[in-house]
Amino acid sequence: MERRKELPKILKIELSNQFIESLRPPKEEVDVQKPYLFLHEREVQKSGEIEAVNTIFLTNKECPFKCTMCDLWRHTTDEPTPEGAITEQITYALERLPDATVAKLYNSGNFFDGKAIPRKDYLAISQQLAEYNHVIVENHPKLTGTYIHNFRDMLNGTFEIAMGLETVHPRVLPKLNKQITTDLFRESTEFLLKADVDVRAFILLNPPFLTDEIENIEWCLKSVEFAFAAGVTACSIIPTRAGNGIMDQLEASGDYVKPRLEALEFVFDEALKLKKGRVFCDVWDLQKFSDCNSCFEQRKNRIEQMNLTQTILPRIECSCRK
Ligand code: SF4
Ligand SMILES: [Zn+2]
Repeated sequence: MERRKELPKILKIELSNQFIESLRPPKEEVDVQKPYLFLHEREVQKSGEIEAVNTIFLTNKECPFKCTMCDLWRHTTDEPTPEGAITEQITYALERLPDATVAKLYNSGNFFDGKAIPRKDYLAISQQLAEYNHVIVENHPKLTGTYIHNFRDMLNGTFEIAMGLETVHPRVLPKLNKQITTDLFRESTEFLLKADVDVRAFILLNPPFLTDEIENIEWCLKSVEFAFAAGVTACSIIPTRAGNGIMDQLEASGDYVKPRLEALEFVFDEALKLKKGRVFCDVWDLQKFSDCNSCFEQRKNRIEQMNLTQTILPRIECSCRK
């Protein structure tokens, strides 16, 4: 309670890493020799073909950035990842996953953070992925540099980097504590495109500090347009969630409101209408944004089908929408 009273004062300045971390619930127990999750999915590629994707969520050192809305630190370690651990994890997952043509290595942070993914492991990692036609990793725009060329050259297939743009709202982006600007995102994308690396953007619906529904919809779509204009081939829209400590406090103080499923459906339809590239909608924990049990599953299925087909499907009718 004491902290809640302090929050409005702190919001006048930007939230510090230390303050954000001080409100966190404990991390999950993780084993650095095992990925914390891996899954087999299908995803439409830039070519329009639907390909099988093996996604591995690696366990490694926590991201050095401390974004306000982030909860990815839950499955990370505090210590630098030891050499060889990442390749162990990839072996563990690949032994249990079926064949696929695309590999995603998501590491709750930045692939090119040497403390998370030891640079000495790049070659071994690329050899493990030799059979894949396309490899996708995630990375912070600030960690864009020529070391990316080295890893790209080690791969047999094409390479893609997913970067968080989050929002282009000029007042909100600095408050996310992500340490980026829209210019930095654009310049990093340009650098990667010149290096023959595809880029996808993560974009938030309802970031903290933006609470009006119409504004949230508008800024989400503006952010999608910005990302496509910068040259990304795909945008993933993520409904912002509470649950990491600071976001719960921001919700309590009225500085964050969760998006309604209906708003997410609306931005997804509108972003697809742009026809500028692929648009995906993140369905993880989607139930959080639904108020109706009767239509939820059908609405989730609709979104999943739209992710796969990239076409706008008819809305699900339900008495909750009247
Ligand atoms: S850069 Fe990504 S992983 Fe790191 S704190 Fe921000 S959202 Fe989380
Ligand atoms: Zn309903």
